[in-house]
Amino acid sequence: MPAMVVAVGLHKYFGNFHALDEVSLEIQHGEVLCIIGPSGSGKSTLLRCINQLERIDSGAVWIDDELVGFRQEGDKLYELNDAEIARQRLSSGMVFQRFNLFAHMTVLENIIEGPVIVQKRAKSAVIPEALALLERVGLKDKQHAYPSELSGGQQQRIAIARALAMKPKLMLFDEPTSALDPELVSEVLAVMRDLANSGMTMIVVTHELGFAREVAHRVVFMDQGRIIETGPPQQVLNNPQEKRTRDFIAAVL
Ligand code: ADP
Ligand code: MG
Repeated sequence: MPAMVVAVGLHKYFGNFHALDEVSLEIQHGEVLCIIGPSGSGKSTLLRCINQLERIDSGAVWIDDELVGFRQEGDKLYELNDAEIARQRLSSGMVFQRFNLFAHMTVLENIIEGPVIVQKRAKSAVIPEALALLERVGLKDKQHAYPSELSGGQQQRIAIARALAMKPKLMLFDEPTSALDPELVSEVLAVMRDLANSGMTMIVVTHELGFAREVAHRVVFMDQGRIIETGPPQQVLNNPQEKRTRDFIAAVL
């Protein structure tokens, strides 16, 4: 089976700043990959390029064997327009540091919005799925609440349920717990751990090294736009080969 995500030779510039420098990465179906690294090392940019929230300057990304950003006709490649990119983007669900739920909608309305409005699915089919997702993240009793009535941890669990409602092939998490009060981190990590155990393919940018050690199949360390080191968590976190990785881990712990 081909990998779920293949990224080859990605470069991304912001002006003269080289944010991604020859980044190549493969993620297998069902694999959980954690990306760690100092602030500004390009972790968010990498996720955003995979998800086409940013355009790469060179290189290529495939998701589930489909070339991202292009359509193939015969032996010709055509760049996708914005609507086509938006459609392709639905193959991955993304959860950000800030749980950007719609403030004027209830929890249930937040979750069914994408499937009903974007995917044009029938409400009658979507609502039972949304309730099952709420059950899964332990918040079925909050279906009629508004985001402002929930804790940050609860809002982030809803944001995960909302992303899952679109039935993505993979989930991208960009520091999903770093905006949370410390006592709320573990409930969000527990939902992510369950998701990993269910076989979801996940790329998780995180400073939670305990989570990475326990849940990740592989850890990537990035610095200055490059992948410095990659390997199983026991290797990268406990016995890093590169000095920059060792220094980073010593500073985070
Ligand atoms: P990380 O997520 O690892 O902290 P980012 O991927 O967010 O790092 O950013 C990498 C670098 O690219 C940072 O130095 C940041 O300032 C820069 N950068 C990110 N997005 C933009 C942008 N839209 N315009 C200009 N510079 C950006
Ligand atoms: Mg970031």
